Amino acid sequence: MELEIKMLTPLWTGGVESGKMDRVHETGIIGSLRWWYEAIVRGLGGRVCDPTKHSCVYDLESSKDGLCDACQLFGATGWRRRFRLVVDGSGLRDTWSGGQINIKPPGRNHGWYLNAGKMGTLKLKIIAEPETQSFVLALLKFIEKWGNLGARPQLGYGLFSIVKVNELPQSTYSWNTLTGGENNHNFPDLRTFTFFALNFEPQSDDWWQTVPGIDRVIREHYHHNKVSDLLHYHTIPTTPALRNVLRYGVSWSSGSLPHQFFGTLHGEKRSRSKIVLSWAYQLPDSTTWRIRGWAYPPHVRQSQQQEVGQRLQAVLGKPDTWLRALKVRYRTAEVTFASSDTFFQSLSSIQVQDFVNKTLPSEAEI
Ligand SMILES: [Zn+2]
Repeated sequence: MELEIKMLTPLWTGGVESGKMDRVHETGIIGSLRWWYEAIVRGLGGRVCDPTKHSCVYDLESSKDGLCDACQLFGATGWRRRFRLVVDGSGLRDTWSGGQINIKPPGRNHGWYLNAGKMGTLKLKIIAEPETQSFVLALLKFIEKWGNLGARPQLGYGLFSIVKVNELPQSTYSWNTLTGGENNHNFPDLRTFTFFALNFEPQSDDWWQTVPGIDRVIREHYHHNKVSDLLHYHTIPTTPALRNVLRYGVSWSSGSLPHQFFGTLHGEKRSRSKIVLSWAYQLPDSTTWRIRGWAYPPHVRQSQQQEVGQRLQAVLGKPDTWLRALKVRYRTAEVTFASSDTFFQSLSSIQVQDFVNKTLPSEAEI
C-alpha cells in the first residue's frame, strides 16, 4: 500500500543540524504513529507498557507472548514491528529557506523558535501483511482527521491530508474495545482527549499581518521572504499568539501548573505539552481558514485540572475570543468540539470506539 500525503502545516522529523531538517527521518514518523496508537489503545481499554521504558519482551511462555497491545504492532525486544515503512520525501520542499523564525508576541522576551520544516507531498509505502496494512490505514485515517505526523505537534507541525491510496488493502479494519488496560490517566488516553477546530473567514486576505508576533517578523527585513514563502503554502504560524494568550493571559493558582500543562524543556523536569494548536491553514479553493488542535489533562489534582479546563473553555470556547487573541477581523467563524463539548470530560471505551470508527476509510472516499 502506498499513500500520497499533502502537508497542510510543515512536517518536522528532526535533523542533524539544529533547526534544519536534512531529510525525512523515518523514526520521527514512526514515533508519532506509535504515540497516537498508544493513546487510542489506552482509550479502548487495552494495555500499553510504560512508554518511557518500553519494557515488553517477546516470550512465548507469557500471556499474549509478553507483548502489550502497542508492542504487538510496533515491536519489542525479540519481536519485529509488523510493518515496514518506506518514506519518499522527494515531493517536499523547505517551507522557507535560511533557518529559524523567532516569533515574539507582546510581553515575551524569548518567544517561540520555529523551524522551517517541509511542505509539499510525501509518499509513505507500508509493507506488511494485508491485515496489518488495513490496520495501519485505519490509524493514518484517524491521525489525518484529528492528529499530526512527525515531531513538534505543540508548535503546530505535521497536519496533513491523504490525497491518494494506491494498492488499497482488500479488507477494512474496524476498531474494537480491548481489555487488560489500567485506568491510569498518567499517559495520553483518548477517553480524556478534547479535539477542537476553528473555521474562520477573514475580512481581508492579509489578515495575518496583524497577528501578534507575526507583525514583528514582517517588519524585520531579514525575515520578509520567509513570510511570503508561507503564503505560497497557504499556512500561517498562529500557534505562538494563541499559546501566549492561553498561558500568560491569566495568573495560575500554582507556578508549576502551566509547566505541567504547556510542557517544559528545562532539564530533568522536561515534559510534553498537553495542548496542541496547529498553524492556520487555508482550505483548498476556499476563503476559509482552519486551526485545529487537541488537549488532554495534566497529571495534577482534580481542582487544578478544572482550572486548566476553565481557562481553555474561556479562550477556545467561542470564535470571538480566538480571533481577538489573533487580532483578526472576520466575516464568519465557528468553533467545533469532539468528542465531548467540555474539556477533560471522561468517555467510556465504547464511546471511544464509536469516535475512532467514524474516521475509517469509506470506499467512496478513496
Ligand atoms: Zn509494550
